[in-house]
Amino acid sequence: MPDCIFCRIVKGQVPCSKVYENDRVLAFMDINPVAPGHVLVIPKAHSNDVAGMSEGDMAAVALALRKLAPAVVTAVGGEGYNILNNCGGVAGQAVEHVHFHVIPRKTGDGRGYRWVTLSYRDGEIEKLAAAIMHKL
Ligand code: AMP
Ligand code: ZN
Repeated sequence: MPDCIFCRIVKGQVPCSKVYENDRVLAFMDINPVAPGHVLVIPKAHSNDVAGMSEGDMAAVALALRKLAPAVVTAVGGEGYNILNNCGGVAGQAVEHVHFHVIPRKTGDGRGYRWVTLSYRDGEIEKLAAAIMHKL
């Protein structure tokens, strides 16, 4: 994808602050971090979203996240982290090359993370579970 900024980073055409790389995965610092140490983990192969990733890339990214998350947290003296992925503009995806955010968290960092939650009506949870299973 020639116009994709993250593909261009993978090719070395756009600079990044790299923190990890293997044959399938690249991880680099987010230029506009939610918190200091915020890292992005991407498959080198372009895909718009999670559903488009190969099994091999998905496994490689998952393993990279497991390796990176504790390194990010200890490097900044954090206590926890959020791993976040936005798929689709409606979900907040700004860069159309699938990426996973690793955001280190500290007590009192003011970043927050609570969505408004709902309650299901009687029978609704089972109906939706069945609808999802039907699509697998
Ligand atoms: P999202 O909203 O999930 O698509 O997140 C896109 C993220 O990519 C944002 O956090 C941006 O700050 C980050 N970003 C965009 N361009 C670059 C870049 N050239 N280098 C590093 N991070 C970037
Ligand atoms: Zn791309």
